[in-house]
Amino acid sequence: MNCRQNNQGQKRAASRALNQNPPKKRKNADPIIDGENDVDEEDVDALETIKILKNGRRFIVITKDDEEEMKEKFRSYRERRRIRRSLPRRRVTMELDQLYKSNTDPAALYEHALKLANSSIHGKGVYAICDIQPRQKIIEYIGELILEADCDDREKHYLENGLAETYLFTMDDGIHAIDGTRIGNVSRYINHSCDPNCVVKTQKIEGLKHLFIVSRRHIEKGEELTYDYHLPEEEEKIPCLCGAKKCRKFLN
Ligand SMILES: [Zn+2]
Repeated sequence: MNCRQNNQGQKRAASRALNQNPPKKRKNADPIIDGENDVDEEDVDALETIKILKNGRRFIVITKDDEEEMKEKFRSYRERRRIRRSLPRRRVTMELDQLYKSNTDPAALYEHALKLANSSIHGKGVYAICDIQPRQKIIEYIGELILEADCDDREKHYLENGLAETYLFTMDDGIHAIDGTRIGNVSRYINHSCDPNCVVKTQKIEGLKHLFIVSRRHIEKGEELTYDYHLPEEEEKIPCLCGAKKCRKFLN
């Protein structure tokens, strides 16, 4: 690949001041890819509710296919919840777990074509140092493989111990998460955008799910890489500075 280091064109904008309650950066895989993240717990109770939610009002006829599709979604959601509940509760260990990483050939990725620099969106960002074609696997999101149930405790532990930010990525199985805080790679610095140039795809390799950042369009040399964090809504809002025309104004 013809990649030359690009030192131009990157705004050295002031990174957002780290406040006392730094934003949660727990990301979720893109729902377009995993297709299962869009079911809320409140939605699960009755099919009648589904009909109302799906159409926004009562007494609406839905097709048999719609109904089957919804039932299928809920079955898998219930199954995930059942598995999660059956897992033994354990004390959160802060011993460093092994690096969770696939054996993907580094030459098949664009990891070498990335550069860390200050970002106008937030703190440090990741930039392409050469053009990247659409649908290219760029880098794997690596770290410790942990239980999603342990995320809150880990986050608390890190913040209490002086870390300004944590880098937790919940997997679409609803059970696991990847914690890139202590042994992640540069992918953990990829910022959020409401109109991103990348998506996160889940890929099963040797029976295990791994997360890859993939380009969703042509990315020009010098461009900052972004993907949509899909943070859940929270009362305490985190402003979004992505600058996209269709910016949602808040990350959560
Ligand atoms: Zn935005």
